[in-house]
Amino acid sequence: MYSNSLIELDRAHLIHPVASYRGHEQQGVRVLASARGATVTDASGRQLVDGFAGLWCVNAGYGHDSIVEAAARQMRELPYATAYFGLGSEPAIRLASELAERAPGDLDHVYFTLGGSDAVDSTIRFVRYYWTARGEPRRDQFISIEMGYHGSSTVGAGLTALPAFHAGFGIPFDWQHKIPSPYPYRNPVGEDPQAVIAASLAALRAKVEEIGPERVAAFYAEPIQGSGGVIVPPRGWLKAMGDLCRELGILFIADEVITGFGRTGPLFACSEEGVVPDFITTAKGLTSGYVPMGAVFMADHVYQTIADGAGPSAVGHGYTYSAHPVSAAVGLEVLKLYENGLLENGRKAGARLMAGLEALKDHPLVGEVRGRGMLAAVELVVDKKNKTPLPAEAQAARRIFDRAWENGLVIRAFANGVLGYAPPLCCTDADIDAILERTAVTLDQTLEDPDVR
Ligand code: PMP
Repeated sequence: MYSNSLIELDRAHLIHPVASYRGHEQQGVRVLASARGATVTDASGRQLVDGFAGLWCVNAGYGHDSIVEAAARQMRELPYATAYFGLGSEPAIRLASELAERAPGDLDHVYFTLGGSDAVDSTIRFVRYYWTARGEPRRDQFISIEMGYHGSSTVGAGLTALPAFHAGFGIPFDWQHKIPSPYPYRNPVGEDPQAVIAASLAALRAKVEEIGPERVAAFYAEPIQGSGGVIVPPRGWLKAMGDLCRELGILFIADEVITGFGRTGPLFACSEEGVVPDFITTAKGLTSGYVPMGAVFMADHVYQTIADGAGPSAVGHGYTYSAHPVSAAVGLEVLKLYENGLLENGRKAGARLMAGLEALKDHPLVGEVRGRGMLAAVELVVDKKNKTPLPAEAQAARRIFDRAWENGLVIRAFANGVLGYAPPLCCTDADIDAILERTAVTLDQTLEDPDVR
């Protein structure tokens, strides 16, 4: 076991994100010390396969010297340059241009942030600015989707629709509205793709009508709902929702913080679905988690409206670390990796992962297996016919996470008994097989656990 003193120091001083503080104090931290490829090593020297790429972000895998070199080179050359006062740095300009070239449609303008939450937050500000510039400042109502996740900033967390992010914080605000999740496995209209799509379209139409069509500013959707439990809408759903936004005259934001950068196969899930939203938000895979960075892609018509609206005045939105040159240098290197085999490998590994998880379907605890590319979920139930979820009070998710960890596997266990998979795109066949074998062992052990069943 590793140093008790580290556990004590952590307990005394480090506040962990999205944690039960008391639960964490009791459990104690698990310290990771190093990593290579898809394997992480804890401070006691135990190796685990990382089936979740950190937090859906280390798409390139760990230990890429070329990424480290790119960051070191940039740090030596120019570790910081503000993008305020009309200043800039070469890596940020080049990354914006490379990304714009690859983004769908006319999403030609890129605003760099520090991560996903402030990317979402930035879009909220840009959307308000856009409608004000168009002379419609009363369009100040926003719609998102139940079980969606759009970050942990105060306003973004109000678009997020997971109760844990609201409780005690006084959000959502009254201008933040929700429609039901498309969630095929648990949709009241059933699992038929056309019925699921029709239900979402009807819900968005009804919500806009209820709010007042002239008041609605924008609609937010993840191509696949990640933190809600990897909820995969039917093919065609995203396009249908985007088309409806256009028809209703409201802006459409695709939040690709998880799905962007190869997670579902292509660089952007929107491209594969033939969707050109007004904004795309990204982060995570943009730098493969090596350094923090997010990016907002803005459609040309939005950019021109905002620019004309502001005229000679400043658009007053910015961060000290907007367009950080070190993050941008890392982003450029990671982009090269994607295009030099990483996306390709991710597609192959994703097919192996999905096939292997599908093979677990007959396990008594498995209600559904779903996913796309290197993004997958196994939804556990105690009764397949009635789709009865695991008992929440049994802390099933925590126990499954712990058990998987003991078996040498890092996965995400969502509170609703869904196991989430988002391995690095660099996974070898052996990595994927290890994820699958250790999942099977973990499921069998869970079956034996009287408290979870
Ligand atoms: N949007 C989505 C869809 C996300 O999944 C996340 C993070 N999981 C965020 C926004 C927030 O990103 P960050 O944690 O980098 O602030």
